[in-house]
Amino acid sequence: MTATIPESLQAKIEERLRYYEDLGIRLFFRDRGPSGSSSVNSSVAAPPTRSGPSFAERSWPTPPSRVVAPVAAAPVTRVAAVRAPAGPSLFEEVDKIKDDTLLKIREDLGDCTRCKLHKGRTKLVFGDGSPTAKLVFVGEGPGADEDIQGLPFVGRAGKLLTQMIEAMGLQRKDVYICNVVKCRPPENRTPEPDEVETCSPYLSRQIDVINPKVIVCLGAVAAKTLLETNRGVSQYRGEWQEWRGRKLMATYHPAYLLRNPPAKADVWKDLQKVMIELGLALPKKKSP
Ligand code: SF4
Repeated sequence: MTATIPESLQAKIEERLRYYEDLGIRLFFRDRGPSGSSSVNSSVAAPPTRSGPSFAERSWPTPPSRVVAPVAAAPVTRVAAVRAPAGPSLFEEVDKIKDDTLLKIREDLGDCTRCKLHKGRTKLVFGDGSPTAKLVFVGEGPGADEDIQGLPFVGRAGKLLTQMIEAMGLQRKDVYICNVVKCRPPENRTPEPDEVETCSPYLSRQIDVINPKVIVCLGAVAAKTLLETNRGVSQYRGEWQEWRGRKLMATYHPAYLLRNPPAKADVWKDLQKVMIELGLALPKKKSP
C-alpha cells in the first residue's frame, strides 16, 4: 500500500529542501538501503500530486569537487654561491673617514694615551715612506731603536727589511712602512689584544688613505690583525689574501729571520710573488 503525503506537507518538505539547498546541502537519498524501508524518503522521492520532477529527482549540477589535488613539491633549485665582489664591505665603507689624510690621522692620534702602551714610550712611531706607495709593509710594533728615533724598522730587523726592499728593486722611500701599534710594548713583548684593538683602527685608516696595491704583513701580529684570524702565519704565508679589496701577502717578520736565517728563502719566495703582482722585474737566475 502506497502512502501518500498531503499536498500541504509536500509543499513544506520542498520548502525545507530549498532551504537546505540555499545552505549548500544538496545530497539527499531516496533510499537508505536495499529494503527501501524508509517510507518518508520514498514518499519525498515520488510525490504523487505535483507535476514535474521532484526536488530530489532534479538533475543537479555537479558540485565542485572539494578534494584538493595534492600540489607537487616545487623542485629545489640550487643556486650557485655568489662570490661577494672584491672590495670593501658596506661596513668598511662606513668606517672610512671622508677626505682622510695621513696628516689628519697623525693629528687624531696626537699625544695618544688611549692604551697603556703610552706609559713606556719615548716617541710615538706613526709610519714612514711614500703616502702614495703601491706597497705597504705592516709590522708589529716599535722596538727600542724605533722608540728612540720615532721611525719604524730602523734597528737590526729594520736593516734586514731595507735589504729585502732593495732586493725587490725598490728603495724605502718607494714604499710605506708602519706597525699595528704605534708605541713600543715593554721589553718588546707582543702587543696585547686590547692594545691592538685600540690602535689598529689608525692602521686601517693609514692603509685606506695610501690605498696600496699590495700589503705585506710582516709576522703574525700584523697578519692576524688585518685578516682577523687566530691562525699562525706559517699556515698561509705565501698565499694571496685580501684586505678591503687589496691583495695581502703575509710572511715572516725580519726579526724572526735574524733568529732563523733559513726562513729567508721562504720570505724571498713570498716577495717575488709581490714583485710579479706589482710588475717588478724578477732578478735573473744565475747560470750554474
Ligand atoms: S699604541 Fe696606539 S693606542 Fe696605544 S697609546 Fe700608542 S698610539 Fe695610542
